Amino acid sequence: MSPNAESTAFRSALEVIRAVEPRVADAIGAELADQRESLKLIASENYASPATLLTMGNWFSDKYAEGTVGRRFYAGCQNVDTVEALAAEHAKELFGASHAYVQPHSGIDANLVAFWAILADRVESPALKKAQVRQVNDLTEADWFALRRELGNQRMLGMSLDAGGHLTHGFRPNISGKMFDQRSYGTDPATGLIDYDRVAEAAREFKPLILVAGYSAYPRKVNFRIMREIADSVGATFMVDMAHFAGLVAGKVFTGDFDPVPHAHIVTTTTHKSLRGPRGGMVLCGPELADQVDRGCPMVLGGPLPHVMAAKAVALAEARRPDFADYAQRIVDNAQALAEGLLRRGTTLVTGGTDNHLVLLDVSGYGLTGRQAEQALLDSGIVTNRNAVPQDRNGAWYTSGIRIGTPALTTRGLGTAEMDATAELIHTVLSQTTPGANADGTPSKAKYVLDPAVADSVAKQATDLLAGFPLYPTVDLG
Ligand SMILES: *Cc1c(COP(=O)(O)O)cnc(C)c1O
Repeated sequence: MSPNAESTAFRSALEVIRAVEPRVADAIGAELADQRESLKLIASENYASPATLLTMGNWFSDKYAEGTVGRRFYAGCQNVDTVEALAAEHAKELFGASHAYVQPHSGIDANLVAFWAILADRVESPALKKAQVRQVNDLTEADWFALRRELGNQRMLGMSLDAGGHLTHGFRPNISGKMFDQRSYGTDPATGLIDYDRVAEAAREFKPLILVAGYSAYPRKVNFRIMREIADSVGATFMVDMAHFAGLVAGKVFTGDFDPVPHAHIVTTTTHKSLRGPRGGMVLCGPELADQVDRGCPMVLGGPLPHVMAAKAVALAEARRPDFADYAQRIVDNAQALAEGLLRRGTTLVTGGTDNHLVLLDVSGYGLTGRQAEQALLDSGIVTNRNAVPQDRNGAWYTSGIRIGTPALTTRGLGTAEMDATAELIHTVLSQTTPGANADGTPSKAKYVLDPAVADSVAKQATDLLAGFPLYPTVDLG
């Protein structure tokens, strides 16, 4: 590759876009500048490679390809077949799965595909049997009514939201909460850890059709072998949503009992979080569920996104390289260094530390809500998100927590020394911020007071810290 290939590619692309709608070209350039300047600690975000990004901008986007490889409802899909088969092949090799379905447009879509595949496989329902693929159009109103009633009676046991579970694991704002009768397992109030005996007890009482493991804000490993035993003991299908930590599985940081793929009946993931690929989703499973999973489109998905499947093939090829395992290990080393740096400065961490890519701060020790902390950090050039902590007294909107993660900064090249410096910056902001008051003098959960000089000084230090680790160093937009 010529030394300037990536700069040339992006510069030329922007020139072409600018000729049509310059404001879009400007916004794209501004987004890169913003990402370069901010200390990104959002646990679910990352920076995809130039090759992955470039793969998404082409004529694959124009193609309809409903169906599966070699069996399409549209003509002329031979090239889509090539990239979809490649992405699936890379996914199977990388994760040691027997089947990979790479069409889901997002993590939510991957979960919907998994839910429907499990239901279609498990529920002895004439209405559901009829609902499969080509007969969907034949369903009468009465069939649909029967279907909805039967689905509404199915049970799902997943991790509670405030313990770090995800909305798609049976919670009301998501369709899963309407499809399923949900119950959740939390964490031990004393340790913040999953109590497997309690999960087993809940499973025995509730008898779920699906036991879900996986999280967005739990800073520890999950023992998937034990979870599978619990599922088996009540005849449940065991599903793992590894959206957040797929990169740690791919990079062989999570092995044995902590690798979900050999233990789960079905595994879903996003491809854009720690896995560092394009924005999208994926389902892995054994041969038993493969046929049902492959019916994801048109059951719950629209036509696949061939340009994104192509980018998944590129990103998964990157994740199969030996240096990805090194990257995955550095993500965890960095998260642990960040956790230690914060603990040393007196910050309270949920579970007292981390063994994955994320750290959950309980900022009530600083006298702040999550919302106040999030905004004060943002004013200081540090991008995080507020998040509930277990048994959160401030609810899901204000919260008492801040979730931070290291996949993005690790991609940039920051190491454990920079994590200690980052912990210092976070602690400085939080310890200098005080809660504000409402107009009537009552304490506010949103307003806060932070000396702008402190915010500016921290933002300057954050920029200095990042200067040694340029983002997309091979891309110069001129
Ligand atoms: C992020 C996430 C999702 C949803 O992914 P989207 O691509 O945003 O739809 C699903 N499950 C878990 C556990 C997640 O963390």
